[in-house]
Amino acid sequence: MVDHVVIIGSGPAAHTAAIYTARADLRPVLFEGWMAGGVAAGGQLTTTTDVENFPGFPEGIGGPELCDRFRAQSLRFGTVIHTETVTRVDLSARPFRYATDEREGQARALIIATGATARRDDIPGTRDGELWQKGVSACAVCDGALPMFRDKPLFVIGGGDSAMEEATFLTKFASRVYIVHRRDELRASQIMQERARANPKVEILYSHQVTAVEGDGVVQRTRVKDLKTGAERAIESAGLFFAIGRKPNTDFLGGQLQLDDQGYIVTTPGTTATSVPGVFAAGDVQDKKYRQAITAAGSGCMAALEAEHFLSAHPA
Ligand SMILES: Cc1cc2nc3c(=O)[nH]c(=O)nc-3n(C[C@H](O)[C@H](O)[C@H](O)COP(=O)(O)OP(=O)(O)OC[C@H]3O[C@@H](n4cnc5c(N)ncnc54)[C@H](O)[C@@H]3O)c2cc1C
Repeated sequence: MVDHVVIIGSGPAAHTAAIYTARADLRPVLFEGWMAGGVAAGGQLTTTTDVENFPGFPEGIGGPELCDRFRAQSLRFGTVIHTETVTRVDLSARPFRYATDEREGQARALIIATGATARRDDIPGTRDGELWQKGVSACAVCDGALPMFRDKPLFVIGGGDSAMEEATFLTKFASRVYIVHRRDELRASQIMQERARANPKVEILYSHQVTAVEGDGVVQRTRVKDLKTGAERAIESAGLFFAIGRKPNTDFLGGQLQLDDQGYIVTTPGTTATSVPGVFAAGDVQDKKYRQAITAAGSGCMAALEAEHFLSAHPA
């Protein structure tokens, strides 16, 4: 049996693609993964508490509840969902072939919405079940405006452009933002470094390392070590943000789609078309700039409409 559309992923991009293709009568089959890329089915929003910037929820909504709602809406229109991770694909000819540990199948069109996983250092106090999401985050744009961070000192770990951008963004809310970087120079572009340095609220701790985050239920202190002198101190703070990059979940593609140097799927600008006709990519797996639930959902809609259009022109 050959399916019309197979969707790989389970975040807002995948479910929006499912809702649109199901309502277009394309009977989508969606593989939501089983801890694929270290993230539960439902995607990155399952790892957060409050989502306050997704339209339609003026009071905010819990991340896991929003994911449940996306899934329920996909099911309502007849999407078939398998809780399995797609481990390999063959994109050399249509219909495309794919496999999980439990089944193999074929699809006339594929939508890849496997997201990206934020990298986190393994620091005592920051792990799941410790202070992760209780002051420790990996998304300043998502969490920076939360009341717990207002007028408090915050930490950002990283030395690249996104660390500079996140730190500068956080100065809108924080009383002070410390950027902690292991080396004695930053990787960020000159202009981003200058912007961060020029901000009176930013202090860069070169050749430093965060050794622990501590607090009673929420972050209250961050311990840092000077790697040159070995001296350690605790600084009062309400939050710590990882800005050390993200890993797009594209390993299972086996190099069959064009990726950029960081592993993100390359799409034709303004579309979700990939280097293989009939394969579309949506959400964070192809977006290293906006990285928000609403932009992922928007590109999931684009992928669905483009897949529908492709299938009308190439039905076989
Ligand atoms: C801590 C945190 C807080 C955030 N808060 C907000 C917020 O408040 N507002 C906001 O707009 N955005 C927020 N974001 C960003 C938002 O979560 C992402 O932009 C969005 O989830 C991206 O959606 P996506 O559909 O591309 O994929 P993802 O949400 O990344 O989901 C992809 C899913 O695909 C699965 N998958 C991967 N590989 C496979 C495979 N081979 N087979 C099957 N399944 C696979 C993964 O396990 C994952 O479940 C936050 C992110 C983080 C990390």
